[in-house]
Amino acid sequence: MTTPGNKIKVVCRVRPFLKTEKADESVTVEHNNVLRVTNPRDPTKDVKFNFDSCYGPKVGQETIYRADVRPLVETVFSGMSATVFCYGVTGAGKTYTIQGSEADPGIIPRAMEQIFMHKKHDAFDYDVRVSYYEIYKETVFDLFKPRDSSGSGGLPIREDASRKIFVAGLSEKRINSFEHFDLLYQKACGNRRTASTKLNNHSSRSHAILTVQVQWKDDLGSGKTWCGRLHLIDLAGSEDNRRTENGRDRMAESSAINRSLFVLGQVVEALNTGASRIPYRDSKMTRILQDSLGGDSQGMMIVNVSPGEAFLQDTHNTLNFATKSR
Ligand code: ADP
Ligand code: MG
Repeated sequence: MTTPGNKIKVVCRVRPFLKTEKADESVTVEHNNVLRVTNPRDPTKDVKFNFDSCYGPKVGQETIYRADVRPLVETVFSGMSATVFCYGVTGAGKTYTIQGSEADPGIIPRAMEQIFMHKKHDAFDYDVRVSYYEIYKETVFDLFKPRDSSGSGGLPIREDASRKIFVAGLSEKRINSFEHFDLLYQKACGNRRTASTKLNNHSSRSHAILTVQVQWKDDLGSGKTWCGRLHLIDLAGSEDNRRTENGRDRMAESSAINRSLFVLGQVVEALNTGASRIPYRDSKMTRILQDSLGGDSQGMMIVNVSPGEAFLQDTHNTLNFATKSR
């Protein structure tokens, strides 16, 4: 490839303290793109990290959505692809950011609302389809189907005649309104929670990917079909499980997570530095996303961190990973 693609933006979000936490602040937003991490035991050990933007604990979902996500979602209506990842350790605010709560909706419901609003006000007849799946230990599971506790039922990744990558047998639900989406989505989130309870809290150990495909035919009589794609991804917790867990299963699980996040970091870094080789094929997730990362597609990684001292080591690991891929 000779033309450099769009860069993947890397932004940081610091969540507020929870009621149950001691408010020993060690992470502060200095400017709108600099994060300062302080070690309260050794104030000489201040470290600063640069991002494309930084959001402090008081910044709400709406602000982040308007500033960073809305423009990216809009590009699917030009037939392009866009991807948003949330990266961070368990408890740092990934699911809150991507999914949100009933009272304070996150990126997924806002993006779906935006898509249906656009559809309503535009002359084209958009066909909207969604898939929702998890990647756990390098295996793909459909979240629109209830999962059995044996952990079987993984779906294979295939390449079609035009070398496009797809997940064989994955459901694609045709959606006609936001309410329709929400119904299916809530049910799928229920499937995810159930699987998580049965399979030892695995939701923090799997990547959850919502893919929205918007298709339409142009009105020039050529019959050309356009397709834009949006991926919204709640990544597996980036904590190093090897520190606390043992047993062969856990080791295999941890190394699969660590490896796929490592590969993702390498892909983002390669895209952002204009490297000639991009290691898409080194993990299932980057392989599936291959056509949607790089080139003229848009991408953003939201790096979630906790504000407190208790997370200091995790925060350093997270920020080192994130700023390296920038
Ligand atoms: P993760 O998915 O990274 O494990 P969660 O999204 O579950 O983390 O967040 C951990 C806790 O912090 C949850 O109780 C969540 O409601 C809360 N939380 C996270 N981010 C925010 C935020 N920006 N504002 C308010 N509460 C938040
Ligand atoms: Mg989560």
